[in-house]
Amino acid sequence: MKPHYHVITLFPEMFTALSGFGVSGRALRNGLCDLKLWDPREFTQDAYRTVDDRPFGGGPGMLMLAEPLDLALTAAKTALRAAGVDQSRMVYLSPQGRRLDHALVLELATEPGLILLAGRYEGIDERVFQRHPLEEVSIGDYVLSGGELPAMVLLDSVIRHLPGALGDADSAKEDSFADGLLDCPHYTRPEDYQGLKVPPVLLSGNHAAIRRWRLKQALGRTWQRRPDLLQDRRLSPEEQDLLDE
Ligand code: SAM
Repeated sequence: MKPHYHVITLFPEMFTALSGFGVSGRALRNGLCDLKLWDPREFTQDAYRTVDDRPFGGGPGMLMLAEPLDLALTAAKTALRAAGVDQSRMVYLSPQGRRLDHALVLELATEPGLILLAGRYEGIDERVFQRHPLEEVSIGDYVLSGGELPAMVLLDSVIRHLPGALGDADSAKEDSFADGLLDCPHYTRPEDYQGLKVPPVLLSGNHAAIRRWRLKQALGRTWQRRPDLLQDRRLSPEEQDLLDE
């Protein structure tokens, strides 16, 4: 069954950036997954379709009201159940959450459904967490003005891992983090650009030598740029050899 992704957002139009372009756009058009957007304004009762209010206790900014979010989350849950997904992970995009990384992306890519909540203003009324089992996920230690970009970052990274999403299924396997290393450098035509030459091994046609060169480059880059990735990774004898060379 294809995964169903639901996003609660005050700015559904922003998601054309995900649905209209590139790998994610093609995956959605080809029916590899579904995206449904829910605007909390549709779940308000007043003439102004109010979705925010001032925080109790004072302080700057506004907060998203509990009720429209509660109702929108419940509607998304009901829609997922109707599509045959009884249990789905619910994620509030938040700078206070677990940091999104490759392991979490792979985990989420196996889910039959996801409900994402994009916050705005100073965030959401805390009682929404008591009404729904929301996990918090952050895309990094900085604060954005809304959860839409983080939700799109999460969905884009997840969709790449759906079977059939990438033209060449192997390309995700060779991307950074897939095998615990950063990706190696790449070159395309021309062979000589302004006197800058492509490493000769890549033109040699010797596949074993090319694979070994790429692995050595990936190891070297990882060691230089992200030594933390090597700390928890058991090196194969070949990798150890290449690092020692
Ligand atoms: N007052 C909140 C705090 O300090 O934790 C920040 C609110 S932020 C201005 C508005 C919304 O943007 C948040 O509710 C959240 O949905 C989203 N957001 C901001 N930074 C984020 C990040 N690093 N990762 C995920 N979501 C983020």
